[in-house]
Amino acid sequence: MSRTQIPSAQTLQQLAHEAARRCGVDVAAVSGDRPHRSPVNGESLGGVRWSEATEIDAAVQRSREAFLQWRTVPAPQRGAVIKRFGELLREHKADLGTLVSLEVGKITSEAQGEVQEMIDICDFAVGLSRQLYGSTSVSERPGHRLMETWHPLGVVGVISAFNFPVAVWSWNTAIALVCGDTVIWKPSEQAPLCAHASAALLGRALEEAGAPAAVSQVVVGGPEVGEALVDHTGVALVSATGSTRMGRAVGPRVANRFGRSLLELGGNNAAIVSPTADLDLTLRGIVFAAAGTAGQRCTTMRRVIAHSSVVDELTERLTEAYARLPIGNPLEDGTLVGPLVHGDAHDAMQAALKQATAEGGTVVVGGERVLADGAEDAYYVRPAVVRMPAQSDIVTRETFAPILYVLSYDRFEEAIALNNDVPQGLSSSLFTRDQAESEIFLSAEGSDCGIVNINIGTSGAEIGGAFGGEKETGGGRESGSDAWRAYMRRATNTINYSGELPLAQGVDFSV
Ligand code: NAD
Repeated sequence: MSRTQIPSAQTLQQLAHEAARRCGVDVAAVSGDRPHRSPVNGESLGGVRWSEATEIDAAVQRSREAFLQWRTVPAPQRGAVIKRFGELLREHKADLGTLVSLEVGKITSEAQGEVQEMIDICDFAVGLSRQLYGSTSVSERPGHRLMETWHPLGVVGVISAFNFPVAVWSWNTAIALVCGDTVIWKPSEQAPLCAHASAALLGRALEEAGAPAAVSQVVVGGPEVGEALVDHTGVALVSATGSTRMGRAVGPRVANRFGRSLLELGGNNAAIVSPTADLDLTLRGIVFAAAGTAGQRCTTMRRVIAHSSVVDELTERLTEAYARLPIGNPLEDGTLVGPLVHGDAHDAMQAALKQATAEGGTVVVGGERVLADGAEDAYYVRPAVVRMPAQSDIVTRETFAPILYVLSYDRFEEAIALNNDVPQGLSSSLFTRDQAESEIFLSAEGSDCGIVNINIGTSGAEIGGAFGGEKETGGGRESGSDAWRAYMRRATNTINYSGELPLAQGVDFSV
């Protein structure tokens, strides 16, 4: 059963190469013998060239040399480069969006939304380039002044995941560049053309400004290329987005060489639905957050914790909505659920559903593979809703596929405990019209996540806030607010204009 006809391999490859070329990619130069398949039809988009781990050292040297120059460029001028990059992204929004859809399977509006997020972070970074504020503070000594200054860190390594193949890099890069750092990007293996296209647009903005090309570099390759970045002492900050498994490997390695890391890892995000919730709004919020992006966002809603007085009605309405979800070609208007990224994701989904059933759960809708005509190697599924008697083992894990576990509660404290009782701490929501519940959820006694929402789903964050989560999500913060500080080093300065040398804490060291 398929909603739409999936385009042929030849058509998709042509679409991808044309979009990449329009962004300035020399497709022949980035082609190679590494297989590269589209989740849309499971077929080849043309082979790509991978870098070797041994190429990282030279890339870091180039980046370091570029940094020595880039850090001397006034921050507002660095901002002007990002402004130009933002203009180029606006011009090529459709091209990049097409590449995102073809390489990772996002529906057109979400793929273009991802590019919009790149544009938004550029706008934010341009403003930031005139607001890298330090503070001054009073000294305990007469004729002294204390202040803090912020300086660029150096080379930043960005490792990104398949499901936000371009936005996450831009969050890091737009901010890092205005802060005066240079960036080396190891994108997901799944999305090399997205990476080359994004890097080509930024490269054009850098070239027009006469900045060194090595301010931004991209190295396509597997985990071993990422590891070479992680271990290189010339990389001051490693910003790594991906699974908790990856973060567990990366974090200690960077710490071992006293480098800095910024980790954005897995989530297991819940919504609490209170008896006072507006169920129409709640339903829409849940369906987008749980089934959107085919369940492949770090902020995807994976658990609903609904009050026992509303859980049956909510489950019934979710079941109806899920049964109607249009699944199919992500490039076609009207499709809401595109493919899973590959067969392993489909296998992981089936294994999780099996385990959930063994743990007492009932699959009330979805879970089955939806075969698309002419795309036997693509993995389309109907998102699943599973009623669970308790928060068992499988519910506490992140399965990167569209499975929504529904649990129930009687007391609000119980619901908060369930929300928090998982190893991950990325995003959370409460649907309620009870102001006291809302305030408690937002307080120290409430959700323990990095993102805590009221009457809105767990996904779809704006760039203005700091993005990230606690516990196994890694603790990093990216994007807006004061996340820029992670890309800079702080110096505390004490200036003595007194002509005397009084010591702090009244210490007497007269000789
Ligand atoms: P993944 O962990 O398989 O890969 C992510 C990136 O890490 C890839 O570029 C990969 O090559 C690289 N990598 C893997 N092992 C490495 C190692 N040992 N050293 C260095 N680099 C290594 O993740 P994925 O399947 O691409 O993405 C899905 C996961 O990412 C989910 O768990 C999702 O929740 C998470 N994610 C988190 C956020 C967030 O902001 N918290 C955002 C997007 C995705």
